[in-house]
Formats: sequence, C-alpha cells, structure tokens
Amino acid sequence: MENQHESRSALKVQQGIVQPESVNIQAVKRLTHSKRGMLKPEEYLEGILSGNRTILSKAITLIESSLPAHQQLAQEVIAICLPYSGKSVRIGITGVPGAGKSTFIEALGIQLTKAGRKLAVLAIDPSSTRSKGSILGDKTRMEALSVDPSAFIRPSPSAGSLGGVARKTRETIVLCEAAGFDTIFVETVGVGQSEVAVYAMVDFFLLLMLAGAGDELQGIKRGIMEMADAIIINKADGDNRQKADIAAAQVRNALHLYPVPNSGWMPVTATCSAQTAEGIAGVWQIVQNYLSFAQGNGYFPLKRREQSRQIMLDTINSFLIDKFYSSASTIALVKAIEPDLLSEKISPYAAAQTILDAYFSGLKKD
Ligand code: GDP
Repeated sequence: MENQHESRSALKVQQGIVQPESVNIQAVKRLTHSKRGMLKPEEYLEGILSGNRTILSKAITLIESSLPAHQQLAQEVIAICLPYSGKSVRIGITGVPGAGKSTFIEALGIQLTKAGRKLAVLAIDPSSTRSKGSILGDKTRMEALSVDPSAFIRPSPSAGSLGGVARKTRETIVLCEAAGFDTIFVETVGVGQSEVAVYAMVDFFLLLMLAGAGDELQGIKRGIMEMADAIIINKADGDNRQKADIAAAQVRNALHLYPVPNSGWMPVTATCSAQTAEGIAGVWQIVQNYLSFAQGNGYFPLKRREQSRQIMLDTINSFLIDKFYSSASTIALVKAIEPDLLSEKISPYAAAQTILDAYFSGLKKD
C-alpha cells in the first residue's frame, strides 16, 4: 500500500530519475554531532589515518585548547590514535637562537622528504608561553619545507606552563605518527628547561652549536651537552670552516671527560653548513648509526618504555597538583593560615603540613 502511495506521489511522477533522499542522513548525523565544527572521535581518526591535514590540524587545536569539552574530546581522539602511533623516529633539535636551527631543519628536512620520508616539525618555545615574543615562531622560517607536501610544520603551543606545553607536544606526536609521519623533529631553544622536556620525548637529541663565539661552550649548559647524542657545529662554510673544525675538536675533547651515557653511545661531533647543505647528509648518517646501535643493544625500546613510565608519573603529578590547588577549602585554608605564617607564629613547614593534612582528611571523608 505504502509503495503504491509513494509511486503516485506528485514528487515521484518523473520516471527514470533516481530520487535522492530528501534528507542527507550522513550530513544530519554530522551536524548533530558537530558542536561548533567538532567531529566525532572516529571521524578524527578516519581523517588522520587518511592523512587529511585539515583534520589533523583541527585535532591538534583540540589538544591545545583549554576548554574542558575540547580536552575531553582530544583525549578520546588520542586514545584511538594511540594504536597507530609509535612508528616514527623522534629527533630533538636544540641550540641557542641564531645557531641555525630553522635553516638546518629546512636543509635536512628537504633531503629527507626527497628521499621519501614524511616529516612533521613541532616546536616547544618557552618564550611564547610567557609573552608574545616567541623566539622560534616567526612566519618566514622554513619557507621551502612549509610548502612541501611531505612535511607538516606546527608551531609551539602558545599557552600554559612548560609541563603543559610538553604534554601537548607529546600528544601531538601521537597524532602525527597516526597520520603517517615517519620522522618527527621537535625543535627547542637551548636556553632553559625546555630541552629537558624535549629530551624526555625523543629518541635522538641533537645539539646545534656555533664556532667562533669566543668560549666555544658558551651559553650551553653542561647538562645539555651531556644529553646530546650528536653535537653539530653549524655554519662550517666560507671563512668560518676552519674555526668550525677547531670548535668540533674542542667539543670532542670536552666530551671525553664526560661519563659514558646509559645508552652506551658516545656522542658524535661533526660540522655542517645548513646554508650550503654540506655535511647535512653526514648528520643524517649519524642519526642512522645511532638508531642501529640503540636498536642493536636494546636501548631504543628501553628508552621509550622509560619515557612512557615518566609520562604516566608526570600525568599523575599534574592531576594531583591541579586537584589540590583548585580545592576551595585548600584555597580558603591557605588564606586563613597566612597571617600566622607571616607573623612567624607558625613555621612554613608546619603550615604546609596543616594544609596537606586538611586536604587529605577531607578526601577520606568524601
Ligand atoms: P635559529 O634561530 O637557530 O633558528 O637560526 P636561523 O636558522 O634562523 O639562522 C640564523 C641566521 O644564521 C640566519 O641569518 C641564517 O641565514 C644564518 N645561517 C644559518 N645556517 C647557516 C650556515 O650554515 N651558514 C651560514 N653562513 N649562515 C647560516
């Protein structure tokens, strides 16, 4: 009956034309699930796995957002991308401003994409989290790489503590790997704590240095040199070539005094010119040598497991800290105890203990 009725309907009298559904069910579903342009987690996954950069970028924006709804969706997307991640080589690149990091990344990056690799370049720029004056972020950097279809460049997340920014970058690595990027560069400025954060998320850590700046080790803390798997003296071109060789020899000598790292790999020192690309292929060879070495002695998977453990602990730490400091009763108690603290009626340790005890006994009651 219903069919008969349908065939007589005025809307269906025209023969020979397939009638489209008056409503596109998929579109409706999409719209109902999309709150201000948000997709469903599976739609992000599908887009990311198929290499759709717009969707990848949108998912990264969710990671970077501080809105709770975005955060929750971001976590769901990360969770379903996780099984597709982990298959890249993650390389940290640091050096003082002007060392030539972006020129170097561009020169090496172009060689890698020409050789068929897919490269994602991420950054952690501590300056951009504090002020607008980003050290890494100007737009003219990496001009050729930024239009290379095999490369994806994402600037540093620009809000939050270093810990928060590092977490966002780690999560972005997961998405980029799921999107098929087999090489991940994480760039940072060698002036503070951010290189420790980068070191903790990469397989290989590369320090870019300059020759002829007076004291060759100037500005670079010993700790950073100890973390490096390779120390590359850049700008080894023109008149600077000889100075670069001398600097490399000095660094080599200095490294002899350091203990052998846990990896068993002695950091390698070399020179290159990011501008002329001389020595750039040699730097990549060092990375390759390291990878076969660390795969061979089992350090590569060990380091990744250690990093996972550390991420878990860091996540617990930041969760606990957030919970503690956002508790209304803690905020009130800190305020209430302050006069006694300032008038030295109570020591800072006793004050801290009182606040902690109050918080944890409150939890027990809950
Ligand atoms: P970053 O601050 O570490 O990212 O450094 P940049 O890549 O922006 O480079 C700083 C300056 O050094 C720029 O003017 C570059 O053109 C220049 N530069 C970078 N690499 C080389 C190199 O290998 N040789 C020479 N002569 N100049 C370079």
